Amino acid sequence: MAIRVAVPKETVPGERRVALVPDVVARMKREGYEVWVERGAGEGAYYPDAAYEAAGAKLVDGKEALYPEADLVLKIQPPGEEEVDLMREGAVVVGFMQPHRYPERVKRLAERRVNAFALELIPRITRAQAMDVLSSQASVAGYKAGVLAADLAPKFFPMLTYAAGTIRPALVFVIGAGVAGLQAIATAKRLGAIVEAFDVRRAAGEQVRSLGARFLELDIDAEAEGGYARELTPEEKEKEKQMVADAVARADVVITTAQVPGRPAPRIVTREMVERMKPGSVIVDLAAESGGNCELTQAGEKIVHHGVTIYGPVNLPSELPVHASEMYARNLYNFVSLLAQEGKALSPDWEDEILASSVLVWDGEVKHEPTRVLLEGGEA
Ligand code: NAD
Repeated sequence: MAIRVAVPKETVPGERRVALVPDVVARMKREGYEVWVERGAGEGAYYPDAAYEAAGAKLVDGKEALYPEADLVLKIQPPGEEEVDLMREGAVVVGFMQPHRYPERVKRLAERRVNAFALELIPRITRAQAMDVLSSQASVAGYKAGVLAADLAPKFFPMLTYAAGTIRPALVFVIGAGVAGLQAIATAKRLGAIVEAFDVRRAAGEQVRSLGARFLELDIDAEAEGGYARELTPEEKEKEKQMVADAVARADVVITTAQVPGRPAPRIVTREMVERMKPGSVIVDLAAESGGNCELTQAGEKIVHHGVTIYGPVNLPSELPVHASEMYARNLYNFVSLLAQEGKALSPDWEDEILASSVLVWDGEVKHEPTRVLLEGGEA
C-alpha cells in the first residue's frame, strides 16, 4: 500500500510557508507516495492549488477530511492539539515541534498514539546536511535580515560617487556568525557595505574573512559540543561587552544573530550601547523570539530609542515564503526518504542516528529525554 502523505494549510497566524512545494510532490508521486494537499495550503507561498493538482496531488477540503486519512502528515509549525485530535492512531507527523515551548502538545501526541519527529532535533552531522531545516531556514532569515536592515537604514549601503563627491559606504556589524549571521554578512557585502563581525567561536573567523568581512578578534573560544557555542563565563562576558560596545558605537547598522542552544539568547547589546550609537542607526535583532540579543528589543516590534531603530522580527523565513518553502520541502523530502524507505513502509530503522535523535513520540511514548523530564515536572 502506498504511503498517504498529507500537507495541511498552516494555522499559525502569519505563517506563509508550506511543507511541500509542487515539484517535490511530483517527485514523491513518481516514487509511489500518494499525496493529499489541503486546498489553499500553498496560497501564502504563491503555490496555487492547480500546481499541486498538476503535480499529481489530490486536493482536499479542510483538515477534517485530510488528517484522519493520512499516514504521514508534513508540517512546518508544531501541530496544535485540535490538529493532533484529528490524526489517526499510528500516523506519523513531521515538522518543527518546539517541544520546550509546547510540552502539552507532545503529551497529547503520545496520548493519541500519534508518532512524531521533530526536524529541529536532527543532529548536525555531515550525512544530515541535506535535511537540515535549521540551516536552510536560518539562511533565509539571515538574507532577509540584511535586506531589512538596508531598507530601514536612512543611508546607502554602498559607496557612491556622484557629480558632487563621494558617499561613504555604511558600516554593518554582525554579531554571531553561524548560518544566519554568515548569510547576513554575505547580503550586506553584496549591497556594498563594509562589514565587521564577531562570534565567540574562533572557527567562525575564517568563514567571516572568506566573505570579505573583518572578524573582530577576542581572546575567547566558546565552541562546545556539536559546533555550537556555550554560554560565556562572567569574565568572558565582560571582555565581550567592552569590544562589542566600541564596534556597536561605530556601526551604522547592527545585525544580531547570537544563540546558545537550550538557553535564552545572550544579552549582548545594552541600553547604554544603543544610546552611544549615531542617530539614524539601525539594529535588526534576529534573536528576538528567544529573548533578544539587544536589551531593548521587543519581539515583532519596530521601536525607536534615542534615534536608533530597533527591529525584532519574528518568523523571518515566512517573509520569503517561496524559497523558504522550496528549501524546506527538499530538506523534508530527504528526511522522509530516510524515514519511509522510498514510499514502502513507515518502520524506522532505530539504529540510524538521525531517526533515533529526531523522534519525539513513538507508540505512545515520549522518546525525547528532555521533553519527558519536562513533562514529569523536572528541569529539562
Ligand atoms: P546558532 O543559531 O545556535 O547560533 C548563532 C551563532 O551565535 C553561533 O555561531 C554562535 O557561536 C554565536 N554565539 C553564541 N553566543 C554568542 C555570543 N555571546 N556572542 C557572539 N556570538 C555568539 O548557530 P547555528 O547558526 O545553528 O550554527 C552553529 C554551528 O553549527 C556553526 O559552527 C555551524 O557551522 C555549525 N553547523 C553545522 C552543520 C553540519 O555540519 N551539518 C549544519 C549547520 C550548522
